[in-house]
Amino acid sequence: MREVDPSADSASTHEVTNQTPPLAGHNLFAGDAALRDAVNHNGGHWAEDDLQRYGEVCGRPEMIERGFLANENKPRFDSHDRTGNRVDLVRYHPAYHQLMQLALSEGLHSAPWTDPKPGAHVARAAKYYLHSQLESGHGCPITMTFASVPSLKLNPHLAAEWLPKVTARGYDYSNRPYTEKAALTIGMGMTEKQGGSDVRANTSRAVRLTGDGSLNAYELVGHKWFMSAPMCDAFLMLAQAPGGLSCFLVPRWRPDGSKNPLQVQRLKDKSGNVSNASSEVEMRGALGWLIGEEGRGVNAIIEMVSATRFDCMIGSSAGQRQAVVQAIHHAAHRNAFGKTLLDQPLMQNVLADLQLEVEGSIAITMRMAQALDHQDDEQQQLLMRLGTAVGKYWVCKRTPHHAYEAMECLGGNGVVENFVTARLYRDAPINAIWEGSGNIQALDVLRAIGKTPAVLLAWYDELERSSGADGHLDRAVTNLKNELANLDQLEYRARHLVDRLALTMQAHLLVQGGDSAVAEAFIASRLDSDGAHSTGTLPIGLDTNRIIERGNPLLS
Ligand SMILES: Cc1cc2nc3c(=O)[nH]c(=O)nc-3n(C[C@H](O)[C@H](O)[C@H](O)COP(=O)(O)OP(=O)(O)OC[C@H]3O[C@@H](n4cnc5c(N)ncnc54)[C@H](O)[C@@H]3O)c2cc1C
Repeated sequence: MREVDPSADSASTHEVTNQTPPLAGHNLFAGDAALRDAVNHNGGHWAEDDLQRYGEVCGRPEMIERGFLANENKPRFDSHDRTGNRVDLVRYHPAYHQLMQLALSEGLHSAPWTDPKPGAHVARAAKYYLHSQLESGHGCPITMTFASVPSLKLNPHLAAEWLPKVTARGYDYSNRPYTEKAALTIGMGMTEKQGGSDVRANTSRAVRLTGDGSLNAYELVGHKWFMSAPMCDAFLMLAQAPGGLSCFLVPRWRPDGSKNPLQVQRLKDKSGNVSNASSEVEMRGALGWLIGEEGRGVNAIIEMVSATRFDCMIGSSAGQRQAVVQAIHHAAHRNAFGKTLLDQPLMQNVLADLQLEVEGSIAITMRMAQALDHQDDEQQQLLMRLGTAVGKYWVCKRTPHHAYEAMECLGGNGVVENFVTARLYRDAPINAIWEGSGNIQALDVLRAIGKTPAVLLAWYDELERSSGADGHLDRAVTNLKNELANLDQLEYRARHLVDRLALTMQAHLLVQGGDSAVAEAFIASRLDSDGAHSTGTLPIGLDTNRIIERGNPLLS
């Protein structure tokens, strides 16, 4: 008979080694040199203490866990209660509500509106960038609430009643009338089955109700095909009124406490953005109040749309940042072929390149935040007009491939759902599609230039500040001007032109940013070549160590 050693664990097959420890308990702001530089450069230095505080909050293990829980547990929709009453209720995991509560209590939806001052948009953008790294789906209603404010102001009566609650720092997700709540969230309904980009194809109708003249009440009949966060308290919606396409604020409950017939048909089953419920709805005689003028709906909602596009830049930059955080952290701990991945030259090329993308993204995002902070300055306004379209197009479009490359840095672990890289990858395309897909953004750039040529002059004036600093950048700007002066087949060439507008602006901002290793590598890899730049193909002779150190969440 075999002797059995009672102390030996016969089930033990191996020791776990060479796996990367989880990254938690770090400070997302302190460990982000690119963000700190961009905040300082764009007038947000006064917010540094608050950002340091919030960077620590966003690195806490329990916060990171909430991001996972909110995605593992999809929102569920109940059309009716147990006794058959229509309720239109979406149930979320408590972690989703906790993330919402945190975002709203920090004023991520309202701080620059309630406390406007130089740098207010920069500080809010930086904070939102930190917060979004926890989880991006719940950011949808935060962004829409933030973005609704300029549109709501177009109807002074509504603004007086709604804005104090829309901008309040609180979260009340109970399914009851807005009149009974102290804090409200706002969504938007533009997309219909027959057209999303082309909103003029909207078929939903609105007819004016008599009485209550000051609030301009209408009744809406029709549908919306993609209405996210349907538990918001009201939605800015487009519908055809007798005078043409118009914008309305449609509450979920009527002022008398009855349910507004805005009925959710079902929730979308999306590949990414899982924590965020996106719904199909029908308006069956729903009450709505006119925002702006009849027939000027696009002009009214465009205020909201442009703010959401800016937020897409923040969200996608944050996704890129979190992807680099994970990639560098993993590479610093994982050994292969006798040394850490971080010490392998080819991996250094990939990691530095991924970090360069983040540097460019945060630089252009924060420059636009600064422009938002100075909307009384015409030059900044012009820069902003072009910058949100260019930036939304470019930053969002670069994110999916960036997420994939960061995922690959983790090898097989990268695609497994309990690593955040898998979620970052699934979420990465959303911002590019939402709120004006790529082509629509590129065409919007042409439209802005055609309608107001001064936007291009403002862009060139900004680029001029780096004139003479780098020969490659100078040549790229000259080429850009030549290409834009050529009016042949502009629409066909629109994406290429926007690429060039974005890259020259990012390069200029990085030159101004003052880190010469970053600026040099960005220009060498993105401007000093004719064709597409694929990740990990940085030319030799660059200070990749310095660039990776700037991206290392535990070093910078
Ligand atoms: C996660 C998520 C959440 C969303 N939430 C909301 C929401 O809350 N509210 C809301 O209203 N909508 C929402 N949407 C819908 C979104 O805004 C639309 O899907 C988007 O605007 C595109 O519209 P569409 O799907 O009808 O596609 P289409 O408009 O049919 O476009 C299809 C493709 O054609 C391209 N295209 C269109 N016109 C042209 C042209 N002239 N030249 C060249 N190319 C062109 C577009 O760029 C796009 O790539 C959401 C979408 C997603 C993915």
